[in-house]
Amino acid sequence: LQRNPLTYEGGGGVLQDGTRVQLLANIGGAQDAEKAAAANADGVGLFRTEFLFLDREDEPSVEEQTAAYVETFAHLAGKKVVVRTIDAGADKPLPFLTDADEPNPALGVRAYRTSWEKRSVLTNQLDAIAAAAKTSEATPWVMAPMIATVTETEDFVALCRERGLEPAGIMVETPAAAITADRHLTACDFASIGTNDLTQYTMAADRQLGSLAHLNNPWQPSVLALVKATCDGARVAGGDPEAFGESANKPVGVCGEAAGDPGLAVVLVGLGVNSLSMTPRSLPAVAKVLSTVTLEQAQELAAKAVAARTAEDAISAVRAGLPILG
Ligand code: PEP
Ligand code: MG
Repeated sequence: LQRNPLTYEGGGGVLQDGTRVQLLANIGGAQDAEKAAAANADGVGLFRTEFLFLDREDEPSVEEQTAAYVETFAHLAGKKVVVRTIDAGADKPLPFLTDADEPNPALGVRAYRTSWEKRSVLTNQLDAIAAAAKTSEATPWVMAPMIATVTETEDFVALCRERGLEPAGIMVETPAAAITADRHLTACDFASIGTNDLTQYTMAADRQLGSLAHLNNPWQPSVLALVKATCDGARVAGGDPEAFGESANKPVGVCGEAAGDPGLAVVLVGLGVNSLSMTPRSLPAVAKVLSTVTLEQAQELAAKAVAARTAEDAISAVRAGLPILG
């Protein structure tokens, strides 16, 4: 599949029965946004905003942040851009925000949690996104990383609403958020599953350790069960089909590496995910594989993968049902 140069024409991944799945790009700034647009991505499913903050001793000003968002949004006029608020800590330490002496940084005061003590870094960032939204034609969907409790979701959504930022959502990266997704999605507008961290926290395996790569595999049936729990939670929470032009459920996307794996993309769609965000070069292969199945077939393959004994069994079962993967 990879050997044939394919292109993605945009307009969503279309299954054999006409079901559409938004195919979005992961970006880190304006240059990536340009590449995402050139690759016909339907929008951006993960804008990692850390790039503005990394290697800085001090927080960038609101004006500087606003200018960076305006520049990025300019490439994405008319498109949805899911902007993730600052995800510092663990693999992305920041001198003015995170504590370098924590014994377990991946389990420490990172991401959204940094706003408990240093609230203004988050509120300044939201001010900058709101200011950029006013002068741009892209539609920012704002979300917070590393959410665990519903109280955190409610707090984040309130901060967004105060600034007119809507929709407001969360990343599902902790098993806690996946298991209680119905309540999180009642409190917010959408969720995006970060399978990189969700896998790390489900398997209790540091994602930076090569020796644990066999555990850090999103095909692990336990991880897929948590993706299913999140999608089931979205069904319980319901939603307004008119509100954001998506489905009758609150939108659930995936923006971890798993979304760019063609076989896994079919499983994720079968579980109920309605957008997949990936590096732009993965878009054509994912669109191609999706076009070979109906939603019902994707659901059957997803059920087999979740019920598999091991990650390897899940992969074999899905490959057997997707002849295009060879
Ligand atoms: C994830 O955890 O899956 C994710 C998309 O976020 P990051 O890789 O930036 O932690
Ligand atoms: Mg993450």
